[in-house]
Amino acid sequence: MLTIAVSKGRIYQEALPLLAAADIEPTCDPETSRKLILPTNQKDVRLLIIRATDVPTYVACGAADAGIAGKDVLVEHGAAGLYEPLDLGIARCRMMTAGKVGENWQGRRLRVATKYVNTARRYFATQGIQAEIIKLYGSMELAPLVGLAECIVDLVDTGNTLKANGLEPKDLIMHVSSRLVVNKAAMKMKHERIKALILALESAVSTEVTT
Ligand code: AMP
Repeated sequence: MLTIAVSKGRIYQEALPLLAAADIEPTCDPETSRKLILPTNQKDVRLLIIRATDVPTYVACGAADAGIAGKDVLVEHGAAGLYEPLDLGIARCRMMTAGKVGENWQGRRLRVATKYVNTARRYFATQGIQAEIIKLYGSMELAPLVGLAECIVDLVDTGNTLKANGLEPKDLIMHVSSRLVVNKAAMKMKHERIKALILALESAVSTEVTT
């Protein structure tokens, strides 16, 4: 059995055509089904539907052989126990600092609201900026509006969410896309199967890029 962990929503939707090109097609839709383990057209392949932030944990401990996770989640979690053999080029966005339109933080002690506490702490340290990091679990855009923080660190795609809340992107922390990750032991024990998956996905990714 090959078990692949993936999160619902944008990553799942964008991963589907790549998985299909690797001849892996789930037999039900996680958006309408409540199943957390999705069988596929291949008897020995199943998908686990879990939260994006949990994918590295499932894969690192071997509960899943492989997974699809955003670079944001991998950097925040740390990649111990994982190989990251392939950039799937899906769910692209940028991790950025953001704050109120026109506001300048230079020289001020900064409060930063984010769910990416490790990444934010490292980023501000490398910039030589003193920052108090405030852990939030969602709706980061609210924090500057109600005086909880001057700055947020979040993912930005079109920028519409920031704009709708009177915020603007400030500095780029990193470009983000989703990666295939593989459990280190599974890479050895199920080498042929996983190698074939990597090659099929690699070929699907390069076809997407050129078409
Ligand atoms: P946007 O308004 O298009 O800039 O999208 C920003 C919102 O979507 C924020 O709440 C982000 O956390 C979320 N978001 C954008 N891109 C992604 C992504 N690739 N993966 C997960 N969340 C994302």
